[in-house]
Amino acid sequence: MRATVLHSAGDVRIEDVPDARLVEPTDAVLRITSACICGSDLWRYRDTEAEAEPKRMGHEFVGIVEELGADVRTLQIGDLVVAPFAYSDGTCDLCLEGLPTSCQHGGFWGWGDIDGGQGEAVRVPFADGTLVKLPVAPDDALMASLLTLSDVMGTGHHAAVGARVAPGRVTAVIGDGAVGLCGVIAAKRLGAERIILLGRHADRTQLGREFGATDVVAERGEAAAERVLEMTGGGAHSVLECVGTSDSLGTAIAITRPGGAIGRVGVPQEDTIPGARASFMSNITISGGVAPVRSYIEELMPDVLEGRIEPGRVLDHTVDLAGVPEGYRLMDRRESIKVLVRP
Ligand SMILES: [Zn+2]
Repeated sequence: MRATVLHSAGDVRIEDVPDARLVEPTDAVLRITSACICGSDLWRYRDTEAEAEPKRMGHEFVGIVEELGADVRTLQIGDLVVAPFAYSDGTCDLCLEGLPTSCQHGGFWGWGDIDGGQGEAVRVPFADGTLVKLPVAPDDALMASLLTLSDVMGTGHHAAVGARVAPGRVTAVIGDGAVGLCGVIAAKRLGAERIILLGRHADRTQLGREFGATDVVAERGEAAAERVLEMTGGGAHSVLECVGTSDSLGTAIAITRPGGAIGRVGVPQEDTIPGARASFMSNITISGGVAPVRSYIEELMPDVLEGRIEPGRVLDHTVDLAGVPEGYRLMDRRESIKVLVRP
């Protein structure tokens, strides 16, 4: 079968790889019908060292069940399913506590001998615990939005939950990428009335306005912080940090009102959290982390199916498998917010 393989920085290729096949009796094999390229794929795409092992790519996908291990109980051949960006057994204590990203037996796509999702097929470990059935056909008009439940919509939601978004709490979202834009959707869904989006790409912040942002701040760094403090009379109650750099987290701390909360979901690019003293003195809660999106799929799916949210609008380019390398280039040059892959 063909799949996406990263060789070194900027060198991503579509190659023949061994066919996905059942290994454990709890596995499923899916034929991928839709996948995406993620902003977090770009971190690997930009940083990989030349001598590193080739890496399989892709962790957001929808597919049709083609083969099932003998112990899989909840799925049938032919089911259309969405996978979260981490696989999990669904039965260990951490899964039962709602944190499948910390599953005792789980892991992430494209690491070690685990397939990536940007390919023709994928082996799914712990199919019962990992996959969620979709009640639509693979070519359904809602497919792009359903696909975002694998990562960006659930991640934006996790930021909003961590930031304790609720009616009456002024909310700020840092980052106008796919996750930040989904954070706007999530904040509005949880009742935020005023949503300030910090982003400097006019086409993206315009989509943010359509998703529910009431104000846009295009300045960066200290200028952005001053602007938000002025607009809010002392800061936002809830801040969604959707970038992951130390500058961005510093801005988040600077614009959070005393007693407020930050939900951080941008993958940290540094090992330290800035502003330890400032956040301490203002009783700011710094929450968030890698989003347990498997726990959110069933909660968010009805809103997609009934058209209340349209996170699939962040997918502004579509490519076939051969077009995946160009998709990476488009996202790397910020010419696309997020790329949909139809193998
Ligand atoms: Zn588990």
